[in-house]
Amino acid sequence: MSVFPKAKFSIVDFSTRYSSEESCRELFFRLRYPHGFFCPYCGGSETGSVRTRGLYRCKSCRKQISATSGTVFHGTHIKLNLWLWAMYLFTVDKRGCSAVQLMTKLRVTYKTAWYIYS
Ligand SMILES: [Zn+2]
Repeated sequence: MSVFPKAKFSIVDFSTRYSSEESCRELFFRLRYPHGFFCPYCGGSETGSVRTRGLYRCKSCRKQISATSGTVFHGTHIKLNLWLWAMYLFTVDKRGCSAVQLMTKLRVTYKTAWYIYS
């Protein structure tokens, strides 16, 4: 699955599709488990969600699992939609995107932009 299909996916489509933190979380979850969910604790394959905390819960062992656990995005305190937009900006221009450009386009501090950039 491609996050940013090259054809027929405009910036408007991208903006609409990933406008909420929840839609971004669902995307990250699908990318984290491209062949279907498997619980890292018990191997269970079914999950529910914990809406209040933005987590998923294994239906077998009931452990809570983050869509970003085991990834570079885990525990960063940067919203997933900012990560996604940064990845979009990195990929749409073959020259990439500098930290200063990220800061301007995402309206974040330079410290946050540099963290995402590095
Ligand atoms: Zn489990």
